[in-house]
Amino acid sequence: MDTESKKSNVASNIRHSLAHLLAMAVLEKDPNAKLGIGPVIDNGFYYDFEFSNGYTPSPEDIKDFQKAIKKMVGRGLAFEGRAVTLDEAKKLFADQPYKTELINEFVDEGKDLTLYTTGLPAVAGTTQAGNFTDLCKGGHVGTTKEIDPDAFKITHTAGAYWRGDEKNPMLTRIYGLAFESGAELDAYIKQQEEAKKRDHRKLGKELGLFTIIDEIGAGLPLFYPKGALLRKTIEDFISDLQKKRGYQDIWIPHITKGTLYEISGHLDKYDAMYTPMKIDNHDYYVKPMNCPHFMMLYKTLPHSYRELPLRYTATTTNYRYEKSGELSGLTRVRALTQDDCHVFARPDQIETEIDLMLGMIKEVYAAFGLNDFYVRISLRDSKNKEKYIGSDKVWSTAENALRTIVKKTGWKYEEAEDEAAFYGPKLDFMFKDAIGREWQLSTIQLDFNLPERFDLNYVNEGSEKVRPVVIHRAVLGSTERFMGVMIEHFAGAFPLWLSPVQVKILPISEKFAEYAGKVHKEISDAGIRVETDDSNESLGKRIRVAKTEKVPFILVLGEKEVETSTVTVEMRGVEKGLSAIASSLNKETFGRWQAGETHLLTDFIKYALHDIGEKAIW
Ligand SMILES: [Zn+2]
Ligand SMILES: [Zn+2]
Repeated sequence: MDTESKKSNVASNIRHSLAHLLAMAVLEKDPNAKLGIGPVIDNGFYYDFEFSNGYTPSPEDIKDFQKAIKKMVGRGLAFEGRAVTLDEAKKLFADQPYKTELINEFVDEGKDLTLYTTGLPAVAGTTQAGNFTDLCKGGHVGTTKEIDPDAFKITHTAGAYWRGDEKNPMLTRIYGLAFESGAELDAYIKQQEEAKKRDHRKLGKELGLFTIIDEIGAGLPLFYPKGALLRKTIEDFISDLQKKRGYQDIWIPHITKGTLYEISGHLDKYDAMYTPMKIDNHDYYVKPMNCPHFMMLYKTLPHSYRELPLRYTATTTNYRYEKSGELSGLTRVRALTQDDCHVFARPDQIETEIDLMLGMIKEVYAAFGLNDFYVRISLRDSKNKEKYIGSDKVWSTAENALRTIVKKTGWKYEEAEDEAAFYGPKLDFMFKDAIGREWQLSTIQLDFNLPERFDLNYVNEGSEKVRPVVIHRAVLGSTERFMGVMIEHFAGAFPLWLSPVQVKILPISEKFAEYAGKVHKEISDAGIRVETDDSNESLGKRIRVAKTEKVPFILVLGEKEVETSTVTVEMRGVEKGLSAIASSLNKETFGRWQAGETHLLTDFIKYALHDIGEKAIW
C-alpha cells in the first residue's frame, strides 16, 4: 500500500508540473490569455484558459504546445515556492481576474497563499529570474529532468465554465495525459482505444439493450426487452444466492416524508437529494438511498437476541442528483437500482455475517468471470473527524473489525483513508475488467451510528434493551452500473447464461419456416432463450446481424437439415471457447452434437447454463 501511494504521488507531481508547463506554452502563444485552474486528474491533468481576441487553439496548436513542453522538459526547469501576502499576490495577478478571485477566496477561507516559479534553477545562491509564476500549493517534480519526455501527451480541448457554473464565462480546457514512463502512456492509449470499441453506450444501442432520451431526461435509462431480460437475469441470480443464505425480501415505497431523513441525518449530510415536493403540507423526498427505510421497518417490531441476525433485502431504485456533466450511459445515472441488504445483528455476529457476505461475493464474481479484484478498506479521514457522525470509539471498533475479517480471507487488500461513508467504515471491492480498468463494485458497510440515531434495539439474554449493529451490503453496487461495466467487460459477448438471446434460428428461406418453428418450439420448451429471424433479408445479411448481436448459437436450417432432422450450428467464439467446453463433455456426445441433433443441442445448452461457473464464461 505504501509503495502504491508513493508511486501515485510521483505521477501526481509529474502531472501537476506539466500543468504549469502547459500554461507556459500557452502564454508563449497568447501572452494575454487569462489563467483559470490547472489540477491533476486521473491519468493526467488539465488547465483552463480564456484566450484573448476570440482565439481558440487548433489541432496544430495542440501539437505545438506538445513540442514546446517537450523542449521545456529537456531544459531541466525547477519549481521554486514561496509564501506571499495578500497584497503581494494581488499585485502579481492584477491582470488575471480568475486568479484574483481564487486569491480572495483562499484568504477568506484562512488559507495560506503560496506561489511557485518555474524556471532554470538558481545558481550558487543567486535567484535567477523564473519565467512563469503561478498560484499553487505545491507538489511538483524536483526539476523537469524527472519527467519522461515520451510519457505525456496534450490530447484535446473542451469548453468548461469557470468553476463549473454556467452563469460564468466559458473557458477553454486543455487536457493532457501523463505517466511515469512512455510505456505506461502507450498502454493507456491502447486501453482507451479498446474501451471505445467496447463503449457500453454504443453496444447498448447495437444490442438493443437500453436507451436514454431527452423527453425523459439525462441519467434516466429505459430498457428494451433484451436489456430488461439481462437485468432480470442478473437480479434473479443475486436473489437466488441471497435466499440460500437466509436473506428475506422486504418492500419499501420510493418517496418519504423528510422526517425520516431528519432522524437519519441525511438532510444535513447528504447533498444528492432532489428538492422535496409538498404533500398535505409536508415535505416529501424521492429516496436517494434505502437505509433509513430499512431502519424504520426494523424499529416497528420488537426483537429478541434469539431472532438476530435479521437479513433484510430489497432490489429497489434510488434517485440521486448527479451533475449533468457527470452522467454517463449506465455507469453514472440518476435512477439507480440497488441490490440492497441490511443485516441487523448482535455485535458478536459481525464476523460471521461479513463472512457470509464475502462468500456470496466470491460466488458472484466467479459467475461473471471477475477474477482480478482486491478489497479496499475505506477508513475515516483521521484529520477531519467532524465530517462523520458517531463517536471515535465506535469508529475505531468498526474499522478494526473490518481489518481483521479481510486479513483472514487472504485476498489482496489496501487501506484507504477518507473513503468511508459519513456513518461508517466500509469494504469496497475493486475489480479489474478485461482491458485492465478498475471499477468499484460491491460494498459492505459497518454501521454503529444509524442504530443509535433510530434508537434501534433488541432484548438481550439479560432482558435488557441493547443496540444491534447494522451491516449495509450491495454486491452489484447498482444494477445499471454493473450492467454498463459488464457490457464493456464482455464487449457485449455475454456468457451463455447472461445472453438475452441464447440461440438464433435462421431458416434459409420461407420454405423451411415450418421446420424452423418446430426447432424453435423444442429449444424454447427446454427453457432456452431462442429467436427466429425469418425476415426477407438474405441469409448472409441475417448471419451478420446475428453476429453483431453476439448471439452465442446460430442455427441455419435448409434442405439438408429438414431431410435429416438436424440443425447446423455455428457457435460464437468457436476458436477460443469450444475446446474448453468440449473437453468437459463426453467426447462421443459432443461429436454427435457438432454433427447437429436438436435434442443434443438443447442438452448441451442446458449443461452450459446450469454450470454457470467458469466453464460457461467464454
Ligand atoms: Zn504547482
Ligand atoms: Zn444502507
